[in-house]
Amino acid sequence: MAQIYYENDTDPTLVAQRKVAIIGFGSQGHAHALNLYDSGVSVTVGLREGSPKRQEAVEAGLTVKTPAEAAAEANLIMVLVPDQHMGEVYRRDIEPNLEAGDALFFAHGFNIHFGEIVPPENVDVAMVAPKGPGHLVRRTYTEGSGVPALIAVHQDASGSAHDLGLSYAWGIGSARAGVLQTTFQEETETDLFGEQVILCGGVSEMVKSAFTILVEAGYQPESAYFETLHELKLIVDLMYEGGLSWMRYSISDTAEYGDYTRGPRVVTDATRAAMREALAEIQNGEFAREWLDESRAGAPNLLSTRRAEQGHEIEQVGAGLRDMMPFLVPKKPPSE
Ligand code: NAD
Ligand code: MG
Repeated sequence: MAQIYYENDTDPTLVAQRKVAIIGFGSQGHAHALNLYDSGVSVTVGLREGSPKRQEAVEAGLTVKTPAEAAAEANLIMVLVPDQHMGEVYRRDIEPNLEAGDALFFAHGFNIHFGEIVPPENVDVAMVAPKGPGHLVRRTYTEGSGVPALIAVHQDASGSAHDLGLSYAWGIGSARAGVLQTTFQEETETDLFGEQVILCGGVSEMVKSAFTILVEAGYQPESAYFETLHELKLIVDLMYEGGLSWMRYSISDTAEYGDYTRGPRVVTDATRAAMREALAEIQNGEFAREWLDESRAGAPNLLSTRRAEQGHEIEQVGAGLRDMMPFLVPKKPPSE
């Protein structure tokens, strides 16, 4: 059985005795900083001069310094900048300011696991990784609940890295929901695999393919949108609430029969082979190398694919239909 910790297993005084620096104020950074602050922990946010996030953090009542200053003052540094820029930020702003006994924390194992960041032996290295987007980490905290998290220790210089990690998880509200023990390797590899083959890559390709097939067959794009994208959430909500059995209990017998007989014809041995190949490329470091090279080159493929995908017909049709749903708050990614 997996080891899962809850609030009673944590010692809130450990993180309260630290000076915490949160480097970055994006999705995770704003949530960690504000939750820790509201939990009574001393927090400084580290942001570059001229970062558009500075004003936001100051207006939220937080102390803001440069990443290097924040790291120098702190004895617990949580690094919450994009994974592809983390190595550079670490070498420039954090590494020169690390002292024996400091704790270096991450919310994803990528840079440690793939050896992009190699911390000195005299600091603790741990991960507290909420299993949900930052905006939910913040919102659930203010509502009295929390987002579950993973905890892992890469390096235990002090002998108390694990307890400090649990204490941090308490501070951001994750111990209210459960903190699961893992390793940097397991977290990194399963996280990348999940986002590639199902959560982000797999699902998006399935949605676009099903939508296009319906439209090409002459059905109205609006019908195709409702069927292949909108309704996905309603089905996934049922799975989230009670697993596949609850979803299959709620749908019609006709839908359930189609599920059992047609699903396995769509996701085939070829799909599973592609999933295993993606896993192998994660495990042997090929994906990490490819992504870091792409990022160092200015991410040309990422940016051009993003533009093309944003122009897909399903996006135009969907935007129009969502405008007619008064219960939906319009959401649009910022344009470059
Ligand atoms: P983000 O892209 O939302 O925000 C990053 C922030 O870092 C920016 O807002 C900015 O303040 C700062 N920043 C950006 N580029 C920088 C640079 N070159 N130098 C210095 N600062 C810079 O990032 P995020 O999604 O919050 O991810 C942070 C970490 O949390 C990553 O390790 C990620 O894997 C992990 N994580 C994210 C989520 C999520 O829901 N987004 C969930 C779990 C774990
Ligand atoms: Mg993830």
